Parts: sequence; C-alpha cells; structure tokens
Amino acid sequence: HAKQQGRNNFQFYSEELTVRSAERMALEIALRKARKNEEFELYFQPQIDIASGRIIGTEALLRWNQKDQGMIMPDRFIPVAEETGLIVGIGEWVLESACRAATKWNQDRKQGNVKVAVNLSSRQFIQNDLVGDIVRILEATQCKAEWLKLEITESLLLDDDQDILEKLTALHGLGLEISIDDFGTGYSSLSYLHRFPVSQLKIDRSFVRDIPTNEDKAELVKAMISIAQALHLTLVAEGVETQEQSNYLLANGCGVAQGYLYGRPIPATAFEELLQRQGI
Ligand code: C2E
Ligand code: MG
Ligand code: MG
Ligand code: MG
Repeated sequence: HAKQQGRNNFQFYSEELTVRSAERMALEIALRKARKNEEFELYFQPQIDIASGRIIGTEALLRWNQKDQGMIMPDRFIPVAEETGLIVGIGEWVLESACRAATKWNQDRKQGNVKVAVNLSSRQFIQNDLVGDIVRILEATQCKAEWLKLEITESLLLDDDQDILEKLTALHGLGLEISIDDFGTGYSSLSYLHRFPVSQLKIDRSFVRDIPTNEDKAELVKAMISIAQALHLTLVAEGVETQEQSNYLLANGCGVAQGYLYGRPIPATAFEELLQRQGI
C-alpha cells in the first residue's frame, strides 16, 4: 500500500513539475521576445528627503507588459532572466532608458539633482564589459555620472573577487554612486564596506516594516544607521509605509525614505508630473 501511495505521490509530483517547467519555458520564450516587442517599461518610485519632503531621487523598477498575460512583476521574471543570461541584454536596456530619463530630468535643473537608481544583477558584472557599456550609454544619452546610482546586493561583495573590485572601482572613478540594496539581509561580514567603493546603504524593507513597535528591529535599524554614520555612508530606508516609520527614521538619523507613504512606482510621464507639481 505504501509503495502504491509512493508511486501516486511521485506521479503527482512529476506532473506538477512538468507543468511548472512548461510554464517556465513559456516565460523564457516570451522573455526572449520582450525587448524586440517593446514590452519593457521602467516605473519610477520617488526617494524623499524626509525633513523637507522633497524628491531627491528615484529608483527605476522594471515592468514587463506581456502581450497575453498583462503586467508581469520583476520577482517573477528577473530570476529567469538571470538564470538564462537574458538579464545582460535586459539590463542594458534598463541602463539606457534610465540614463535617458535622468538626462531629461536633470539637464535643465537649476538646483539639486534627481538621481536615478538602477538595480544591477551580479550576472551583469560577471558576463559583460559592464564598465565599457556604461561609459558608452552615458555618452550616448548625454547623462552625467552623478545623475546615476547603481544598486547592488551584498552577495556580489561577499567573496573577495578582484574582478568585481576592479569594475566597481572603475565605476566609482567615473563618478557613479554605488548603493547596497536590501542591506542587512545578506549579511556575512561588514569588512566589504571598507574594501569596496560603496557610498550608500539601503535599509531593507523587512527591518523598516516592524519599526518602531518591534524593539529588536528598531535596534537593528539603529545599528545600521550607526554603521553608516561611522563609515560616512549615506542612507535610504526602503518600504516606508507609515508616518510612524518615517518619524522614527528621521529621529534616529536616517533622512531619506522610499516607500508607499511617499509614492508607489509610477510610469515616467506620471513621475515627471510629480516633479513638475513640486516645482523642482
Ligand atoms: P528592490 O530593488 O529592493 O526594489 C524595491 C521593491 O519594493 C520594488 O518592488 C518596489 O515596488 C517595492 N516597494 C517599494 N516601496 C514599498 C512599500 O512601501 N511597501 C512594499 N510592500 N513594497 C514596496 P518591485 O518593483 O516589484 O521589484 C522587485 C525587485 O525586482 C527589486 O527589489 C529588484 O531586486 C528587482 N528589480 C526590479 N527592477 C529591476 C531591474 O531593472 N534590474 C534588476 N536586475 N532587478 C530589478
Ligand atoms: Mg533596488
Ligand atoms: Mg531593495
Ligand atoms: Mg528587494
């Protein structure tokens, strides 16, 4: 009886696997055509100076308007794009579109920049002439390095990789700001903050979500703020949804926030209207 049940389980499991791999394959096939079909779009979410309420930057977040399925969110397709290497070409498109937007929003600006942050996958560092591509894209779009920020994750910096160090040093040398995304979630050692030319920490949403009521999370956020201050790094808190969270962050030394409290990711034209409404 056990044997029979085992076989049934196996059948069920294998059927499920077949469905899943078929879905994945369909996603991959559609993903290969997405760029040519112009199905990608960047959304922009404001980054706010909490004290003044002004927009000082924005994170570019990729959206895929798939012809049959509608909008597909990055958590569903970025992993597939990374596994297949498609992220390299998609990432180039993201960089170019983000730079074009950054130029449009900054070239006639009288004061302050609206810095555009772009997410980079590890694969883009490993497989590609990333530095050469970024130089070329900055030139082609007439985007200044200081208008662009690169978000990377701690995992890229965990092993002592000379090639990654050289690429990040070159990008930093061009004047690009490097920010650690999801800070606090991939922890192994803080020594990389010294070794790599990092200038900003983005406190992960999982910490921000539970402040100020959860004392452990609140202490961890304070510790991250101390680390940033000690190492002269700037800070952004992500996933800020409530006024209480925002107040706590400002009171404890984190002056920049990103999250639904201040605005969801929106299309470029809507973000532009937001900038105009604020008269900046
Ligand atoms: P991330 O870089 O950590 O981006 C922040 C995510 O949190 C975004 O999800 C954003 O919409 C969401 N978010 C912002 N504020 C709030 C909030 O107040 N509450 C909640 N619950 N969520 C908030 P999104 O746009 O779905 O992107 C998910 C992830 O996909 C990103 O996480 C990033 O890792 C990746 N991603 C997005 N665009 C790109 C891209 O162009 N290239 C690469 N390589 N990865 C990307
Ligand atoms: Mg990010
Ligand atoms: Mg993040
Ligand atoms: Mg994240």
